[in-house]
Amino acid sequence: MIEIPARRGRALRLRNGQKARIVNTNGQQVVDTWALNADDLGEFMSMEHSRVAIGRIIPGVGDALVTNKRRPILTMIEDTSGGIHDTLFAACDRWRYELLGHQGHHDNCTDNLAAAMQELGLAAPETPAPLNLFMNIPVLDGNRVEARAPVSTPGSYVALRAEMDCIIAFSACPQDMIPINGLAMRPTEAHVEVLD
Ligand SMILES: [Zn+2]
Repeated sequence: MIEIPARRGRALRLRNGQKARIVNTNGQQVVDTWALNADDLGEFMSMEHSRVAIGRIIPGVGDALVTNKRRPILTMIEDTSGGIHDTLFAACDRWRYELLGHQGHHDNCTDNLAAAMQELGLAAPETPAPLNLFMNIPVLDGNRVEARAPVSTPGSYVALRAEMDCIIAFSACPQDMIPINGLAMRPTEAHVEVLD
């Protein structure tokens, strides 16, 4: 298994048909997930297009996430985590932490995506809205959103199947100022396994 270190990112190549199993090792870690067409990084998994395609805001087993060209790129094929994920929140970035009152550098998912892509010698054209695996953002009264601790348990996982050759990237979200990574607000590592 490949580690996604706490507060850091990791990117991998997936061939069409390969699967990535993302394990919530300690149970309370949000994993921001992106996928980009390996042959055209300008085509990437899009949450706004995926919500249209699946007709809801949280993908479940059998749902195909689509790109900004509305083509399937990843299908969720397994989920033992309780089925709670988020497609609404942008990746965290330095400005998010500044607004929360942090001063100076803070690790963030936006920089983690860029660094992970750079390790493959690649650059994403922008920071697409991520599929925030294990992130618990309930919509209350059909309108208000709240940031809560994950419902996932240690060792639970989500498996995603590539529907095209793609780059899949992850960030073990370093958010430690609100309880999206558990009430202890202590980011931890996660793991990913690639299966043929
Ligand atoms: Zn984050």
